[in-house]
Amino acid sequence: MMPGFTGGTLDRADRLRHDVDAFAAAKADWRARLLKLAGDTPEVTEDGRLGWASLADTPDDAELLLLGLDGGRPHFVAHRPGERMPPVRSPALFAALDQLQAGEAATYAAARSLLDWHARHGFCANCGSPTTIFRAGWARACPNCGAEHFPRVDPVVIMIAEHDGRALVGRQAAWPARRYSALAGFLEPGESIEEAVAREIAEESGVPIGRVRYIASQPWPFPSQLMIACVAEATDDAITIDANELEDAMWAPRAAIAAALAGAPDAPFLPPPPYAIAHTLLTAWTNEA
Ligand SMILES: [Zn+2]
Repeated sequence: MMPGFTGGTLDRADRLRHDVDAFAAAKADWRARLLKLAGDTPEVTEDGRLGWASLADTPDDAELLLLGLDGGRPHFVAHRPGERMPPVRSPALFAALDQLQAGEAATYAAARSLLDWHARHGFCANCGSPTTIFRAGWARACPNCGAEHFPRVDPVVIMIAEHDGRALVGRQAAWPARRYSALAGFLEPGESIEEAVAREIAEESGVPIGRVRYIASQPWPFPSQLMIACVAEATDDAITIDANELEDAMWAPRAAIAAALAGAPDAPFLPPPPYAIAHTLLTAWTNEA
C-alpha cells in the first residue's frame, strides 16, 4: 500500500526554477491553474481531486509558487505575505484529507509545506533582514548578506517495536478515544535513523531495542516532516511509559492489529487514519506474518 501524501503526478520542473524567462512564461500561460485553498483546507471534487482556479483568481498581493507541470500545464499555489497557516487542523481539513486521492494529497502536501515555510521565513536566519522569493517559489534570498534559504524538511522516525509476534503501540492523551498508533519522534542532530528509533522507543516506553529495519516514508505537511517508518526488534517486553509523552502503551498481537485496521467492532483499539504512515506501517507489519 502506498503511503499517504505520496505518488504525486506533477513534474516538479526544476529547470523552470532556474530560468526566470521560462518561469515568467509559465505565469503567462493561459492554461495555468491555481490551487484552491481556504486557509490550509483544499477544495475536493466529488471524485477526490483537488479543486483549481485560473490565475485570474490570484490575490493582488500574492506571489505565485510553482508546484509543477502536468502535461506542460503549469500549476501554482498563491502565497500572500503575512498569511499564516492555521496552527490547528480543522474538522473540514480532516474531512478533505479523507476524501483526497493519494496522488492529489501529495500535491496538496507540497503546497501546504511550501506555504507554511514562506510564511515563517520572511526574515533571514543569518542576519535578520527581510528576504525575497526566488527559484519559482522554492527558495528565499537575502538581499543584505546574500544568504540563500531553502524549504526545510524535518525527519521524524515513526515505529513499532516487535516482540514475540506482538507490536508495541501507544496513545497520546490528546488523541481521539481508543486510538492507538506507532510511537514517533524527531531525529536529533548527530543521530542515525536506527539510533533515533531506539532512543525514542526507550524514552517513551522503556522498551530496549536491537535491530531496526526500514519500511517506508511519507511527507507530512503539518508543517514539513518526513516520516520514516521502521520496525524495531525489542530485546525485552517490559513497558515503562513516559507519562509526559504517552497516556498508555501496550503489546498488540497481529490478529488484534489486523482487526483494528479492518474496523472490526470488537477490535481492541481504533487505528490511525489511512493517510497516516502509521497505518501503512501497521498494515505492512500485519501482512508480514
Ligand atoms: Zn541575510
